[in-house]
Amino acid sequence: MTRIKRYAIINIGVVIVVQTAIRCIHCNNKSVVKFGHQANGTPRCKCKKCGKTFQTEYMSHAAKPETKLLIIKMSLNGSGIRDISRVLSVDKNTVMSVLKKLKTVLET
Ligand SMILES: [Zn+2]
Repeated sequence: MTRIKRYAIINIGVVIVVQTAIRCIHCNNKSVVKFGHQANGTPRCKCKKCGKTFQTEYMSHAAKPETKLLIIKMSLNGSGIRDISRVLSVDKNTVMSVLKKLKTVLET
């Protein structure tokens, strides 16, 4: 199981190291291995179960899985594409891309 170290610096100068297990963002599986780095140095991981690769941390707000989930939730609650784009500060083409992928998944 691959773990990632996160550092939290508290105001009084104490550094706490917390190790958290990395889970696949596609299938939530624990068995992931390190798979090199991005050009900017962000580490990549590969899932042993589904074989997909992913980053442990995303620089772009729009690429985060939480943002994609929010796009789907807002769409189901009746928000329009431009409305979602404005509220979440992502491009409208990103919103369209996420919704098209959701449509493809729902049709299969
Ligand atoms: Zn996976």
